[in-house]
Amino acid sequence: MDVGRIPVAAPDLSGREEEYVLDAIRSSWISSTGAYIGRFESEFAALCGTRASIGVSNGTVALHLALLGLGVRPGDEVLVPSLTFVATANAVRYVGAEPVFVDIDPATWCLDAGRLEDAITRRTTAIIAVHLYGHPADMDAISHVAAVHGLSVIEDAAEAHLASYKGRPTGGLAAVGTFSFYGNKIFTSGEGGALTLSDPALELRLRTLRGQGVDPGRRYHFPVTGFNYRMTNIAAALLCAQLERREAILGRRAEIAEGYRRRLEGIAGIEFQPVAEWAQPANWLFCITVDSATFGRSRDELAAYLDERGIETRPFFIPLHRLPPFREESRKRGDTLPVTDQLAQAGLNLPTFTMLTDENLDRIAETVADAQR
Ligand SMILES: *Cc1c(COP(=O)(O)O)cnc(C)c1O
Repeated sequence: MDVGRIPVAAPDLSGREEEYVLDAIRSSWISSTGAYIGRFESEFAALCGTRASIGVSNGTVALHLALLGLGVRPGDEVLVPSLTFVATANAVRYVGAEPVFVDIDPATWCLDAGRLEDAITRRTTAIIAVHLYGHPADMDAISHVAAVHGLSVIEDAAEAHLASYKGRPTGGLAAVGTFSFYGNKIFTSGEGGALTLSDPALELRLRTLRGQGVDPGRRYHFPVTGFNYRMTNIAAALLCAQLERREAILGRRAEIAEGYRRRLEGIAGIEFQPVAEWAQPANWLFCITVDSATFGRSRDELAAYLDERGIETRPFFIPLHRLPPFREESRKRGDTLPVTDQLAQAGLNLPTFTMLTDENLDRIAETVADAQR
């Protein structure tokens, strides 16, 4: 990183991360058995309000296991938002099912429950609700539609660690929640993921699938085809240290979001991610939208202007229905996603990580304001 250059994300490893990793190494438990795994799984379940949590190697395999565990099969259709990271839809393809894209609600930027019904066919078996950029989806409305049509629901909470919906934590709002602990996520182990759930039979199925399909009572007996999707004790050690500091990490991120709002709110053509009255978001990456006509520059021009001045940003995800692996099927189905398309071209993520200082926020906000002059 150049001196003075502000990255868009950076992990905060300033607690007992080093100590715990060293402890794992010295204990020689560096593989997928060890005390930190059990500790992480029970703490994380408690934080998400679920009976159990299962550590896995990353957020993408957490989605894959969730779909398998809920019985999603080849030829099924799974309703997903198009404005999300590609892993949400890739996992649907891993089980031979097809992602069907549903537009988002402008009030939450997450799946619009009112549009789900139009997308349901005889083949639809599940919905993946993504809590985009830390803001929870309207889970009661989504679960209601799912219950009426007999569909399973998965929460992709990769970007919304410990956010809450009507006072209840994300990850505990559907049959299964999935999390990513990739390096740019709120809590991280470099690579890592988790499933959160409460049904004991489902837990057994998911643990079996995570560990090569092994029968827990009989060594080298594999009743089903499973995977090696296990988490290492070293990754779990990092996560235990991260969770100890969860209040500080979430608190500083909330201050940063508030700091951005305060500094940017007068700028014409810049708007923020809405926050529903029932939501307590997790402040993953702070989001703005740029209205080119009012602001006087496009989102991409603003991003280039910031980049030239040492401030890294990210444009919003390219909608998945526009990407080569999905666009042909989407076009044939006639998915229409005007809210997604509009937001995807206007949205920009600003640097968000705990070590960002108030001086950094001043500099970023001043540079955004200068871009307009
Ligand atoms: C990061 C992310 C994932 C994938 O997680 P990995 O740990 O990188 O595999 C899945 N879904 C969403 C919404 C994400 O942001």
